[in-house]
Amino acid sequence: MVGPMEIVILGSGSPLPDPHRAGPATLVRTSIGDLLFDCGRGVLMRLAGAGSAAGALRALLLTHLHSDHITDLNDVFTTRWVTSFAPSPLPCLGPVGTATVVERMETMLEPDIGYRLEHHDDLTWRPSLPVTEVTAGVVLSEGDVRVTAAPTDHAPVHPTVGYRIDDGDRSVVIAGDTVPCAGLDELCAGADVLVHTVIRRDLIEGTGIARLEDIVDYHSSVEDAARTAAKAGVATLVLTHPVPAPAPGTEGVWIDQAAAHFSGRVLLAEDLLVVPVSG
Ligand SMILES: [Zn+2]
Repeated sequence: MVGPMEIVILGSGSPLPDPHRAGPATLVRTSIGDLLFDCGRGVLMRLAGAGSAAGALRALLLTHLHSDHITDLNDVFTTRWVTSFAPSPLPCLGPVGTATVVERMETMLEPDIGYRLEHHDDLTWRPSLPVTEVTAGVVLSEGDVRVTAAPTDHAPVHPTVGYRIDDGDRSVVIAGDTVPCAGLDELCAGADVLVHTVIRRDLIEGTGIARLEDIVDYHSSVEDAARTAAKAGVATLVLTHPVPAPAPGTEGVWIDQAAAHFSGRVLLAEDLLVVPVSG
């Protein structure tokens, strides 16, 4: 039986700290459980807000290893461990390089792991985040759910992957950070919802701030994301990770920029936005 499928944008922010936007993270609720995509700043606070928890996750999937997408990886790792009453390894899928990052994170946490093992008599096992490094193809298949990965283009950050989650006849694509590319087009073909990180090229170019202007060449603009969605025949486009953060009252400009290139439904994400997925 196919259960309800929905998306919860946990963190709609970017590397720039924002009082209203946690770091990049998206929850996809499927018939086999909750799948967490990326784990940026504040992910477990937002996961609690969504009525889920580290202990409730079926798997963690990373799009890439940029710090803003993995800042709270250690929190997911530790909190799942200390809130479970039996060993609860959390499968972690990510691009090549993920295993090294997880191994070094665990090294960083050795003092804490030691403290807790020593203090709690009933905690007799270590935290565990078994990693599978993925490139392309079906990376998880269980019940009615199939997750497919494909390489994206966030150069010079490499490798990076996007994911498509099919649950019965419904489908969601998590693009991550990327410019338009063939891998993303493949994932998006006929999908119900595309969640895409975006920037406003028109607001960033010409600011004279080199550190900010640098990000234009490896992110999709709102128009880029809209063109990708249109080409693939996606029904709903969710713009997330907006840079710069939209000034209050300007949200409509972001929607209009996308709507000029895409005739489907466009949503600008805020934290805890829920998007039900209907096939
Ligand atoms: Zn990135």
